[in-house]
Amino acid sequence: MRISGYIHILMIHCPVCDSVDARFLTQDRLDRNNCYFRCRECGSGFSELRVHSLAESAELHTSVYYTPENEGVRAVPAAEAYFLRRLLALKSTGRLLDVGCGRGSWLRYIRENSLFSVEGVEPSEEAASHAREVHGLSVRTGDLVSAAYPDNFFTAVYLRNVLEHVSNPRGLVREIRRILVPGGVCAVHVPNDASITNILKRWFYRAGLITEFGSLFYPIHVTGFTTGSLVRLFQDAGFACLRRETISKARRVYEFPLNRLDIPLLPAAVLEWALGMGNLLLGWFEKRSEALKAGKARSQKGKVQNERNNEINFIWG
Ligand SMILES: [Zn+2]
Repeated sequence: MRISGYIHILMIHCPVCDSVDARFLTQDRLDRNNCYFRCRECGSGFSELRVHSLAESAELHTSVYYTPENEGVRAVPAAEAYFLRRLLALKSTGRLLDVGCGRGSWLRYIRENSLFSVEGVEPSEEAASHAREVHGLSVRTGDLVSAAYPDNFFTAVYLRNVLEHVSNPRGLVREIRRILVPGGVCAVHVPNDASITNILKRWFYRAGLITEFGSLFYPIHVTGFTTGSLVRLFQDAGFACLRRETISKARRVYEFPLNRLDIPLLPAAVLEWALGMGNLLLGWFEKRSEALKAGKARSQKGKVQNERNNEINFIWG
């Protein structure tokens, strides 16, 4: 088994920074063909197996997320008001695209509470139809590349809990850069794989108590981001980080209702709030022009390296 692990380390690439320098973490308890790794270069955790077929991914996510019973799972009013306020401080008009907009409730909220002209793209036909027919939204079915938006088209792009699901986050971020206007903003939500509650969940996983390895659970969540690795992903694609923050499950603006496991972990959630290591990671990234991208790349290099090293020190398991 260990030999198998070492062979994997030699062959697999980190989905965030493309490095082949990764350490084996553990074998997937539900699918013995899968293993989890952590990149030594950027600090991301990731699943070795990934769902590459758009049709398979759409079917999988439809069955897990886009059922009538789950309609309200993302609707925490205090959280939505908070997220929109944060975005409006940076961009408040123009075209906004919600990538992976699901059944459209977040996009509808933005339409009703801002001056943005809104559009969505969603791989699940069931969810996209719901967004069009029930909410009257302009939503294309498919992935972002197949939607084929023009260059420099959107002022803002929203990626709410999407990056951790996709097989190729680097390709997705490059496509977002292409369709954003220079100076356009991409707002991102991902689970923070370096949060204290996710560190504890990795311990519980190894004790055989749960099936989620921190923020990773194949085939749904296949990349585990940290603050450093999320910033690295966007900077490599030609973005500048305008702002980033984490939100603990103990805060009122945490975007999901707490589940059964979250209740005993609340003391840890309070601690991660105090330490700035919350479970939800938010980032706002601005598309730099080509000239700025080339000019600032060298000056940013040392700073990014320091951020990366500090981040890696906080990751356990
Ligand atoms: Zn990496």
